[in-house]
Amino acid sequence: MDKFRILSIDFELEEVDRLRDTENVKSLNGHIVFDEPKIRIDAGLEKQNAYEVLWHEVLHGIFTLSMPDIEVDENSTDRLAHAICQVMRDNKKILDKYYPWKNDKANSRTDQ
Ligand SMILES: [Zn+2]
Repeated sequence: MDKFRILSIDFELEEVDRLRDTENVKSLNGHIVFDEPKIRIDAGLEKQNAYEVLWHEVLHGIFTLSMPDIEVDENSTDRLAHAICQVMRDNKKILDKYYPWKNDKANSRTDQ
């Protein structure tokens, strides 16, 4: 099972067919559950959409864990995830050049 670390917490990353909310009321693209801890992504999403959804959930994780006193709404989280993905996509070469952890063992862990 892939683990996705956000600050000090390792979230299990799970792809779920036809992901729904915990009450099974509505379909979701993704969600983060802090008490399990898990990030779930709908398995049917196209790759680019899944990447943005993953970032959306990661941002929820960062906001909740590092800034619990600040409420960030869904729309702002979406816009920030979209902006991060755009910056990463359009500047990959430069970001790769400055990426400082290429040989970090944490990036080659077999449990990731
Ligand atoms: Zn959200």
